[in-house]
Amino acid sequence: MIGCWSGKELPVALRAAITAQWPDEAEQGRLYCDEPGGHDGPHRACVVDLDAAPAARARALWAQWSSDAALRTVVLVVLDDCASLSPSRMDACARYRHHDGPHTWEQWEERGVGAR
Ligand SMILES: [Zn+2]
Ligand SMILES: [Zn+2]
Repeated sequence: MIGCWSGKELPVALRAAITAQWPDEAEQGRLYCDEPGGHDGPHRACVVDLDAAPAARARALWAQWSSDAALRTVVLVVLDDCASLSPSRMDACARYRHHDGPHTWEQWEERGVGAR
């Protein structure tokens, strides 16, 4: 699967806000879009995994930015995690709910089919 990989520098003000709220998180400078290549809508990259919440309501903090180069704004949004599990239930999707394209586990489990 070919990803979008649109890159975006996280603004210093947002970086400082994230560090203030989640001091244990590694500081992220440049973000890369996690969506499949050629996707619709804004680019998104996961910034902080908010897994402290009960698993059924797991959420994560995402940075979101437009593909329009004129719009340089990065916004932070909290999105519910995608609840999809792989057929073996060994892997969970790392994207947000209602995302486009395949679940992230598909690239690993597809490879495993027929290997056993
Ligand atoms: Zn993208
Ligand atoms: Zn998914």
